Amino acid sequence: MTFRKLPGKRRYRIANPSRFIAVMMLFILALTAVIVALASNRGEPSDQSSVAVTPTVLPTPTPTPKPINVPDGKKVEPVVVVLDAGHGGRDPGTTSPFIKDFYESEVTLDIAKKVEKYLTDRGIPVIQTRPGEDHLNDSIEKDLLARADIANSNNASLFVSIHVNAYEGKGAASVNGMEVYYLNKDTVYTGFTEERFARIVGEEIKNVTGIKFNGVISRSLSVLRNTEMPAILVETAYITNKEDHDRLRSNEFRDKTALGIANGIELTLQEIGAFEHEGELYVFKEVGE
Ligand SMILES: [Zn+2]
Repeated sequence: MTFRKLPGKRRYRIANPSRFIAVMMLFILALTAVIVALASNRGEPSDQSSVAVTPTVLPTPTPTPKPINVPDGKKVEPVVVVLDAGHGGRDPGTTSPFIKDFYESEVTLDIAKKVEKYLTDRGIPVIQTRPGEDHLNDSIEKDLLARADIANSNNASLFVSIHVNAYEGKGAASVNGMEVYYLNKDTVYTGFTEERFARIVGEEIKNVTGIKFNGVISRSLSVLRNTEMPAILVETAYITNKEDHDRLRSNEFRDKTALGIANGIELTLQEIGAFEHEGELYVFKEVGE
């Protein structure tokens, strides 16, 4: 017998046997995987939830904060208002001539806390110099310096000290109303003065409470002198005047006074150009020499 090459039929030869084996092994492995997968799916409910989908985990991109364009000669700082509840601890401040155990430091703390609530509700950050009953230092002089230090070390945008007035001179009983003190230190916000700050806050308190506004008064008080930002001191009413005394006793008057102070602070922040950037409030301050 002779072998004949059949016409049209080609003979194949495996050129690279090891490569062929490797390809076949891969094919068998893949086939096995498919069979195993089909077998494990059998009998399970065919709803979509049974199909395990492995989510592609992408690295969380670090958000790039947008820079704030700071004008020449300015610096940018986050807004924070420092509230200073006058007196406290061993220093009760002015005391009631009409009833026992009613004194300034409890009124100022209550009003300061109410102001804080109004401001934080509006997204304006607040720091209290005296968050509780206690005084800051046994020496009155050092106590006042400590209050200014809190404002300075926190780069406060604005500082508001809250007090209750008393007058014991001639005709004391008829002296009443509210006053706001300022000093006019060096300008921190271009074109803005502490006198302007005092006037805005005084007008707002008058609008909300209806109390007599005796005006703004320039006086070199420790907390006004030693703070490095616009600072005012509000004398909310006279504890020595019967009508004011009863106001100071009422929660309604304290709340309205607090609302007036908060409104005044908010208007002032607008006037000094406070702006929101990525959810936070900022101000530009002039760079000191
Ligand atoms: Zn006082």
